[in-house]
Amino acid sequence: MTHVITSLCVRDRGCIEVCPVECIVPGQPAEGWSMMYIDPDTCIDCGACVPECPFAAIFPEDEVPAVYTAKGGEYINKAGLTGHYEGTNHHNKAVVLETTRQLAAGEVVDLTPDIKVNNDFFKSGPGYAAKDNDQGT
Ligand code: SF4
Repeated sequence: MTHVITSLCVRDRGCIEVCPVECIVPGQPAEGWSMMYIDPDTCIDCGACVPECPFAAIFPEDEVPAVYTAKGGEYINKAGLTGHYEGTNHHNKAVVLETTRQLAAGEVVDLTPDIKVNNDFFKSGPGYAAKDNDQGT
């Protein structure tokens, strides 16, 4: 099994620092790969990244919610969305995303498609090569 970063991720990056096997990679270019991604072949399921995420975006693969009920105000972040987000990451660097949508309280979202997105990032997307283009945001 593996852990999965879902589209509740808005690039805090704290998870990257605690992963003991360095299998979390920041998506680049961010317009197309807007989150952090976990390599399912390397993740050892230690769970260390889960409490590090201030957006509660990381789940064990078999617990990724098919029915995620929004608290209200959190952002979904994925290619194809067009909403603007501004925040600050773990390193106090500004994060600006144009691939988001803010959720309304009680809105229900299926986060399970993000399992494939994490896989695709490493199987057919930039994978670990994205680290070479990392801008720190
Ligand atoms: Fe890394 Fe552990 Fe998170 Fe897997 S569960 S991505 S090994 S910190």
